[in-house]
Parts: sequence; structure tokens; C-alpha cells
Amino acid sequence: MLHPARRSLATLVAAISLFSFFRSVMPAAPAVPDKLVVLTFDDSSASHYAVARPVLKRYGFGATFFITEGFTFPTNKKDYLTWGQIAELHRDGFEIGNHTRDHLGITEKTVPRLAEQLAVIAARCREQGIPTPVSFAWPGNKFHLAALPVLQQAGIRFARRGGEPEVPYAVGGGVAYEPGADHPLLIPTTGDARPTWSLENLQRAVAFARDGRIAVLQFHGVPDGEHPWVNTPRERFEEYMAWLHAEGFTVIAMRDLARYVDEKSLPANPLEIMERRKSAVPPAAVAPPTAVAPATRLPK
Ligand SMILES: [Zn+2]
Repeated sequence: MLHPARRSLATLVAAISLFSFFRSVMPAAPAVPDKLVVLTFDDSSASHYAVARPVLKRYGFGATFFITEGFTFPTNKKDYLTWGQIAELHRDGFEIGNHTRDHLGITEKTVPRLAEQLAVIAARCREQGIPTPVSFAWPGNKFHLAALPVLQQAGIRFARRGGEPEVPYAVGGGVAYEPGADHPLLIPTTGDARPTWSLENLQRAVAFARDGRIAVLQFHGVPDGEHPWVNTPRERFEEYMAWLHAEGFTVIAMRDLARYVDEKSLPANPLEIMERRKSAVPPAAVAPPTAVAPATRLPK
């Protein structure tokens, strides 16, 4: 029979070793749950405030709004958000992400302009009481590896690309984000909403959100007057969100990935996973079923 003091010491030692054991076998971040969806909106569309905001608030969904002052943002307030509305989206709890001042397509030639383009949006955010963005969406879904250190320098932790190169742009499909295999600054789009989409396309995209993979959705305006080739009609958008809610999906902003993903775990070669997918997966298997290429390929 142990003396009570020694018995409690033995209990304490057992508890500490149990704790150390679990710490050694548990990953640093909690496991990625099934049905985890990252919801993103590009290009500062006025409909993000007027249409998306009330729907997302109704369901308690998180989302990231990627802000650019490109296109006719400075003068066309019928189609684009005001900074006052962007600040309100932030106060609602949504994430404001950086999409460059001019919607700058990133190529080897334009990388030297990226730091300033990011800084202008970050400064506007601070003027509005919005924290410096930590998420970025590659404008026109164009990415270049030379830009990665520039993004890191600007404090960007997560960046979203399109579904290319794995899936051709025209079909609006993509691949699931695989933390650890995909670089956190090259997170693929899983579904890129198009006017030709129906609920089935959305269902096909989010079906990838399982077994440690995350589905990343890309929307533009809901609706989008200035970018008709990526328009989502209001009724469709409301139908998609209602379905995600009814099916019990966890819908988060991009910055919330930090809760699930170990950002320190980086692939040695960020392009390897893309190559592996291209050679392993026939595009027909990942492209949404009813998406068709538009008759005329409009500029992105
Ligand atoms: Zn864009």
C-alpha cells in the first residue's frame, strides 16, 4: 500500500508520461476534418456586400474577400465595393485578403512590381482599421515561383491559385488542397464557379473535402456585371450556400487554415505535386460534369 503522498506523485508521473506520449504521436495542428471548405470571393464585386454578406451571416460561414482596386473599382460603384463596405465585411468577421492594387498578373517580368502592389492594398486596409492581409489570391490565377519570397516578405501566409495547371481553366474545375504536398502559397482552387454551373458542379467540387483534403471554392460576383464569364446568378449562389449548410459543411476563411495546417511543412519542390496530379489523374475525372468551355474564351 503506497503512502497517499507517494500515490499522488505516482499519479502525477503517470499523467505526465501519458501527456508526453500523446504529444509525441499527435501532429502539431489538429487533423483536417472531412467536409472542410475554404470559401473565397475575388475582385471586390459590389454583390459581395449586397448578396453574399447576408447569406453567409445567416449560416455563420467564414469567407475571404480578395480585394483589388483594378478594373473600374475607383469609379464604378454599381459593380464594385466601396472601402466602407470592405471595412464592414471585416467588422462582420470576414477576412479581407490581398489581390494586388491593379489586379497585376504575376509573371517573371511583373514580380518586381508585386511588393508595391501588395503594400498599397495593405495600407488602405490599415486606414480602414483592417489588419494587414495574410491571405492572397493570384490575380488571373497566374503564379510564378519568383514571387513566393515577395509574398512571404509582405506577411502573406496562404495564397490561392486556380485549378490550372492540373485542370484547364475553361472547365471551372480544379483539385483538392493537400496540406503538406501543396505549398501554402500555391493552394489550388477545387471549384471555380461559372455561369454554366449547377448545384451538381458544386457538389462535385466539395466531394473532395475528405481524407485530409480541403475543398477551396472560388467565386467572383454573385452576380457579376463586369466579369460575365465568371458570373454566378444570385439564386444559384443562395442554393449552393443553403446546400452546404444543410449538409453540415464547415465553411471557413483562408486565414483559418492556420488552425488545421502546419505551415512549416513545405514541399521541397512546390511544382512536384502538380506534375504528379497531371500525370496521374485524367482531367475528365476532376472536371465538373456539366461545365462546358465558353464559345469565346474571354480574358481572365
Ligand atoms: Zn481576380
